[in-house]
Amino acid sequence: MRPTTPYRPLDITIPFPELAPFARTGTRLHPRRGAPTAADSSVGGPLLWPADEEWPVCREHGRVPGVRPERARRYETIVETAWARPRPAGADGVPYTDAERAELDEMSLSGYQPDRHDGTPLPLLALAQFYARDVPDLAAFAPPGTDLLQVLWCPFTGHEDGGSSHFGPSTRLRWRRAADVTDPLSVQPEPPIVERTGYLPRPCVLYPEQVVEYPFADYLPSDLVERIDAWEDAFRERAGEAAPWYQYDLSLAPGWKVGGWDSWHRTDLVRVYCAACGSEMRVLLTIDSYDSGGSWGPYPPVAPATGVSVGRDGEYRAFVCPSDPWHPHRMSMQ
Ligand SMILES: [Zn+2]
Ligand SMILES: [Zn+2]
Repeated sequence: MRPTTPYRPLDITIPFPELAPFARTGTRLHPRRGAPTAADSSVGGPLLWPADEEWPVCREHGRVPGVRPERARRYETIVETAWARPRPAGADGVPYTDAERAELDEMSLSGYQPDRHDGTPLPLLALAQFYARDVPDLAAFAPPGTDLLQVLWCPFTGHEDGGSSHFGPSTRLRWRRAADVTDPLSVQPEPPIVERTGYLPRPCVLYPEQVVEYPFADYLPSDLVERIDAWEDAFRERAGEAAPWYQYDLSLAPGWKVGGWDSWHRTDLVRVYCAACGSEMRVLLTIDSYDSGGSWGPYPPVAPATGVSVGRDGEYRAFVCPSDPWHPHRMSMQ
């Protein structure tokens, strides 16, 4: 069933018409477990990649500890299988078998890093790809002549590539024209190790849905924010807990999305500027550890599907330059 965002509790531009010019569309991606191919928009699926183009690698890591992807996938399978088992009435805990328990213990005793890399360059991990035909808000960002965005990352923190990306994996954005890829790669490289299971996406198909968003309050004039605060207080006095919040219900959608506005709930607003030309950058992609929240929870409801967890269960955002889409992007964690 196609996930659908419920109607907003109210239209915030009726009490505050001055918010209308700040409206932006964003596309919620609604990733759901599936078996995407290179011809599909996906998270954790295969990329449409030319067979004769080098696959990018990262050379910044030596013999780092981590977890092999096959072990991480096995771990997830064990947990999901055990959770799905019928539980006897009154039984405590998850019904793991002894063998499963032993495997899980090995992971937790090692701090979830039971493996060690041999020091060779790490092929980057295919994180996601988006076709402009599927994601309405992608076209506004796509460099002329391109219609496909591919996102790869090195599944380790601590990179030297500037910005604030040392808080999360180092990312690469690759724009291309899908029709140019006439001889696609058949076997996709994968890093032999990842820093943690949360950097390894599970294959998901997407159900893009366009929504309208309004800015995080720090982007708004302070007198408008004061009036919104007063409106929220008065609403709360009359309606109690049923009163909507601007920040949580009426402005920003949670979850993976393309376009829209960016939240700064952990740090307050830190504007992001292009290192090449100084223009204020605009959020292109939000990678979110959670997919729902408050009144935005899609119907039908679903647990987070991608397995991706960034920062402290946070959001990891790619910002791009509005003046020149080829200027280097920057990452920001919330
Ligand atoms: Zn790396
Ligand atoms: Zn720029």
